[in-house]
Parts: sequence; C-alpha cells; structure tokens
Amino acid sequence: MNLQQNMRSYVESHYPILYLVTFDEASGDQLISNLAGDRKVQEWNLARGFVRFDNKVPMREYYTDLVAALDNWLDQDLAGQFLVIRDAHLALRDNPLAIVRLKALAQRIVKEDRFAATVFLVSSQRYVPPELEQFITVFDQPPPAEDEIATMIQEYATNRDLHVNEEVAAHLILAFRGLSKYQITCLLNRAYQRDGEIHVGDIELVIEEKKQTVKKNGILEMVSVTEGMGDIGGLAGLKAWLEQKAKIMDDLPRARKFGVEPPKGAMIVGMPGCGKSLTAKATATRLRLPLLRLDIGSLMGRYVGDSEANMRRALALAETVSPCVLWVDEVEKAFTGVGGGANSGSEVTGRLFGHFLTWMQEKTKPVFVLTTANDVSVLPPELLRRGRFDEIFYVDFPNEDERAAILQVHLRKRRKDRGEYILLPHNPRGGHRAMWFHGSRIDVKHLARETEGFSGADLEGIVKDAIEEAFLEGEAELNAGHLRTSMEKNRRHALMMEGKAKEYRSRLKEMGIRDAAGGCLPP
Ligand code: ADP
Repeated sequence: MNLQQNMRSYVESHYPILYLVTFDEASGDQLISNLAGDRKVQEWNLARGFVRFDNKVPMREYYTDLVAALDNWLDQDLAGQFLVIRDAHLALRDNPLAIVRLKALAQRIVKEDRFAATVFLVSSQRYVPPELEQFITVFDQPPPAEDEIATMIQEYATNRDLHVNEEVAAHLILAFRGLSKYQITCLLNRAYQRDGEIHVGDIELVIEEKKQTVKKNGILEMVSVTEGMGDIGGLAGLKAWLEQKAKIMDDLPRARKFGVEPPKGAMIVGMPGCGKSLTAKATATRLRLPLLRLDIGSLMGRYVGDSEANMRRALALAETVSPCVLWVDEVEKAFTGVGGGANSGSEVTGRLFGHFLTWMQEKTKPVFVLTTANDVSVLPPELLRRGRFDEIFYVDFPNEDERAAILQVHLRKRRKDRGEYILLPHNPRGGHRAMWFHGSRIDVKHLARETEGFSGADLEGIVKDAIEEAFLEGEAELNAGHLRTSMEKNRRHALMMEGKAKEYRSRLKEMGIRDAAGGCLPP
C-alpha cells in the first residue's frame, strides 16, 4: 500500500489527527489535495495565519495566533473538512494552550458528527506532545522513488531538448535517491546551467548537496579525505577484497540489473595504529563517495529513547546520502561494560546496537559500512557473526614485507620533492631492496627486518622523527643513521603492544576471521 492509500484508509476511518512528516511541502500539499477530492480544506500556517490552501493567500480574518485559530475552528461546523496546520512542530512546541485546544478539537472530532473533520499536522520534524499521543498517527513522506526520479529527469530533458542516455540516467537516479523533488529540480537546473548538458560529471553537485545535508544535521561527521589506496602499505588481502567491491560499486546500476547485491561492507578489527582508519579513508577515496563517520558514543541522549531516536536518525541520514561509506569508528568503545546487567547505560548500548545490526541485515540502500574496532574482547559475539558484514578482517602488526612497504609509503610521502629518490627493485640475486635519498642509501629491507612488532603508526613515527632529527642536525639529507636512532626510540612502545597482539590473534583464529594481509593468521 502506498502512502496515499494508507492515509486514505485513516481518513475514512475517522482518525482525528494525521501527522505528515515531509521535507517537500509541494508534494505534501499534492498528497493532501488528492486525499481531499471535493472536501473543503482550511489551512493555518505559522507565517500568515489562515490562508487559502491552494495559493497561500491570507484570508481576511487570518488569526496568526494558533490558539485563536483553533478557537475559531471550535466554533465552526467542520464535518467532512480537512484542517491543515503547517510547521506544526514550531507552532505546538512550548504552546500548552494550543495543545489543549487541539486536544479538545480531537475529542470532539471523535465524539460529535458536527466536528467530524481530519486535522493534518504538516511539518519537517516529528513532534508529538504526550497529551496528543493517542489522537495522532504519524506518516513519513518518503523521498521520490526511483521511477519517479527517472520520470523527473526524462521530463526535464524533454522540455529542454536534451539527450540524457540510459547509463547517465541510471547513475543520476542512484545519486538523487533520498533527495526531495525540490532538491532534485534545483540540482538539475544547476547541472544544466553549468554547461548546457546533463552528464555523469554532474554527480559531484549531488555529493556537494548531500554534504550540506549532513552538515546541517550534525549527527554524523563528514570526513574529508586525501588518503588513497596507494598510501596503505601491506594489507594486500584487504585491499584486493576492497578493490573487488569497488568494481561493483563503480558500476552499481549495471551490477544490480545483473542481480549482484550491493556490498554491505566489512568489519576491520585489530591492533591500534595498523591502518584501520586509514583503510576507511582510502576506501572512500577509491569509491569516490562521501565518508560519514558515526561515533556511537555521541548518540547517547539524556532521556529515555533519545539514543535510539538518534541512531535511527543517523542511519536514515546515511541512507539519504547513499551511495556513501559509513565508518563506524572504534565500535568497541560504546560496548565497554555491555552485559553488566544492572548498568542502564550498557542496556541502552545493547539496544542501540541491536538496532544497528538489524539495519545492517536489512538495508537495501548502497551504504558501504566499515566498522573498525581495536579490542574485540568486549564486542558482543553477534556482531562478529557471519552474514552481518560481507567479511571480517583482522589487521595484525605488519610482517616484514609489509613493514618495508609502509616505510616506503612514508619516506616517499615526506621526501617526494627530493629529486634523487630511487626505489631499487628486488635484486634478482636475493639482495636488499633499497631507497636512495640525495646520495645516501637507505636500506628499507634492513630496517623492516629490525622492526618486528612495530605497528604502521610506529613505523610512520620512525620516519617522522628521523626526518626531524636530520633537519635539527642541519644535515643535508636524511640518512640511515637517523632512521636507526629513531627506530630504537620507538621500540619500547612497540614491545608493549606485543603481548596484547598474541592474545587477540589466538581469539580471532578461533573465530576463523580473515587476515587482512592476505595470508593465514600466524600461530
Ligand atoms: P588504526 O588501526 O588505529 O585505525 P590508523 O589507520 O589511524 O590506525 O593509523 C595511524 C597512522 O599510522 C595512519 O594515519 C598512517 O599514517 C600510519 N599507518 C598505519 N598503518 C599503516 C599502513 N598499513 N600503511 C601506511 N601507513 C600506516
């Protein structure tokens, strides 16, 4: 049953107040108008008081005060009419007199034939005062469906004699999903005005628009990223897997037609500083999609039910912005203490999390979820169950080859302006791989061998400190000595983590979780 049919059944069953949550006033009005047929529709809005429903021209007696307007309605014969109150959340909040009058009206509608009207509260936000709860039924107006968007694009193109081929239309339809008709029309106008055409490149305008939506909403963070897959050293297994999913996301319209399901995403667990966050960022860059960060801890509200409502809003927002990457960062932080029973905070987290899992399971929108966690021991086992994510990866401390790759990434990044950088390929006779900077030879392979147990962040630290040291010493160029000194300085931190790593490894191995490096987990 669509929204109109559903609402009609409530009108016909004489439900007194229907609350329509919509961001698209024009479509909302169209809907009410379709439901009304030849019934009389009266409208009160906060800006102008009583206005004509069709053209919003103020009536002679306009009553800008809602209390007075409701009194006026209470004095009329209202049978069969529609009474529209626009911007209801603003008009009713902190307005007890209006709330009790509306309650009186609802009671009369239910009891007396003379008053058998239907009140429509129309608003972009849901606000149901407890006093009115039993009288109100809430309806959310969904954004236009894909076939409606297709028609809009088609009509827009036809009216301007433009040709939009099927492939471009399919990409645009996907990008426009979640936006209101008004927003879509504005974007089509902007795209057209840029160069007199509509093409795939215009999707960047849509991403900008969606970024605005996220910023205004404030519940998710829009992360700006510059990191790419080339900035990740090692993690070959994880990178190959992501590349495979990226190919599907790149060509989602065709993939869906072919019957491929949109990728759900991955859970990445493992040692801190080993590239989990880096991977989330690089993935968004690779997919050319916005990266939204969800901090479960920040969803906790002060009142009962707030946290769940925040979670719902956050997930709905991610769907609105989809296709996108949703990064749920350090998820274990929210669960520290879950299962403590009496602790109500942990109960809330448990419920929030249940909601998240159900959403993960059922979501059909292309939201690619990357959940990262350092400490899996506090995570509820159901999160790690197969099927929630497409795959779960364990990011271990980098092995020797990975360490060489990470050192290279960071040396290259920081010294790329040095003309004499050369990376020697593998020596076929089994020699070392080395890099040269301004004539000084840096033996990356040797450094890699000496840094067992170092994380990616530790290795980055070695490079950073060594470069700083070289600068402070007034050296012309970074040399192997700087790196060696810096390595010894960073060693203590690396050793501290090793014990924890052993513990994780054995637990993850038991669960059969895939190693991000691509091999099997070490014993
Ligand atoms: P975490 O696993 O805790 O999320 P991060 O991804 O935040 O770790 O890593 C911290 C920093 O360490 C990164 O910004 C990056 O500079 C460096 N780093 C960690 N792992 C790698 C890696 N595999 N390749 C390159 N740099 C890395």
